[in-house]
Amino acid sequence: MEYQTEGICPICNQRAMLKCNGCKQQFYCKKEHQRQDWPRHRSTCQPWEIRESSELGRYLVASRDLNPDDVILSESPLIWGPALHSDQRVCVGCGKRCKSSSTRCTKCLWPACDANCPGLTDKHRHGLECSFLIKARIIPRCDVLLVIRMLVLWRTKSKYWRSIEKLQSHEDSRGQGTDAYEETMNIYGHIKRFLPDDLSGEDIVHKICGLIEVNALETLPPEGCIAIYETACLLEHSCLANTRHNFKIDDKGRPRIIVKATCSIKRGDHLSTMYTHALWTTRARRAHLLETKYFSCHCKRCVDPTELGTHLSTLKCPHDKGLVLPKDPLNFDSQWGCNLCPGILTASEVKQFIDKLEEDVDEIMYEANKDKLINLLSRLTALLHPGHQQCITVSHSLIQLLPADNPKKAELCKRIIETTKTLDPYGARLALYTAVALRELSTCSGEDRKRLLSEAISLLQYEPENSPGEKLRILIESEL
Ligand SMILES: [Zn+2]
Ligand SMILES: [Zn+2]
Ligand SMILES: [Zn+2]
Ligand SMILES: [Zn+2]
Ligand SMILES: [Zn+2]
Ligand SMILES: [Zn+2]
Repeated sequence: MEYQTEGICPICNQRAMLKCNGCKQQFYCKKEHQRQDWPRHRSTCQPWEIRESSELGRYLVASRDLNPDDVILSESPLIWGPALHSDQRVCVGCGKRCKSSSTRCTKCLWPACDANCPGLTDKHRHGLECSFLIKARIIPRCDVLLVIRMLVLWRTKSKYWRSIEKLQSHEDSRGQGTDAYEETMNIYGHIKRFLPDDLSGEDIVHKICGLIEVNALETLPPEGCIAIYETACLLEHSCLANTRHNFKIDDKGRPRIIVKATCSIKRGDHLSTMYTHALWTTRARRAHLLETKYFSCHCKRCVDPTELGTHLSTLKCPHDKGLVLPKDPLNFDSQWGCNLCPGILTASEVKQFIDKLEEDVDEIMYEANKDKLINLLSRLTALLHPGHQQCITVSHSLIQLLPADNPKKAELCKRIIETTKTLDPYGARLALYTAVALRELSTCSGEDRKRLLSEAISLLQYEPENSPGEKLRILIESEL
């Protein structure tokens, strides 16, 4: 990537060589003019810059040192709409879930929250596609709306399309024979009528579905929607990400993303987010990333067989209760070995074993019966490390059912809190999950109730409005 070495000073319009250290994009002729321009430049001075490599494509690095909570970027989406695999009825105007199944846009007859929803006529929202939908006469299906929106941008040669087009779509990995291909053909079949007769629309639909799958972020608010952002989509994945983000509806009704630093970030550090679930095992996270983002994670957590000492994937050896860990966690076919005996399990044996356990856990968790959960947990801990994902999941349900005087309760809470704090040290992903455990622990005798509840409140401070996290925060505040 090339860097500019000179520009024009905004104060005197002269040739300028002095670069702003923050954004590296604004030039000044001299220090004095830079100082003079700062009140104006402050709001646009970005703390990030885009770099490019063959392995990562385009990515973001910090262009100056950042402190926790510093805003890194804030931008409105290039495009947004209902999630691709969603079967929910979402208003085409505002993205809110529809309460009634009979309210519709009076022109195109697609679902709406209210016939007077302001988003229906707004050109940044439904106004964009309504006239196209009237002509195309496609049976309304919310999960294809975003693809249609992007086709409108493409057909109208919108400036938004030019930015979207630059993002990765990985069509080469989404060819015939893949699930992605089948899903795309299903969407293509449904919206074929929308495509102009003189063009083979198949290629563009494949590109659009790739762009959505690889780049779109789930928004909240609105719930159930996804959005593509010009810069935020360049954040690379790490299982130990250094940013968090939330959403705010902007003045045009779109979900604006705000990305903040979770920790101190040094100038030149890569800026990262997490595109998968923090409480999934390394095998599950890496498989999901490879399948949906075509990306192989090599972060500190992924290369560590113990997952940073949490033992989220670790099994117990049936012979000697030793720890059974993958020999190479970055290899899906790796053998698993015991740390006490020469016993070996193949990758597929481990997968079968875990899949079977997961089925049992899902079934019993669904019932949420205290005694059944206690039984299940004791069965699991005979086979798995107590920090294993399945044990943590069951424990988390169980602590909410156990009375405060149960001798096991505090121990289970502490194990959960220790695990989530290691895997998500800044509460960017698991704040609600951890806060629930902190609150349960605070009821146990001998615990510092006030400290634990205050900690839970502080973890929940970033939760979106009206979310379960915010509701819990308000409840705990009233309890304190
Ligand atoms: Zn100047
Ligand atoms: Zn600057
Ligand atoms: Zn609406
Ligand atoms: Zn309409
Ligand atoms: Zn990783
Ligand atoms: Zn063993």
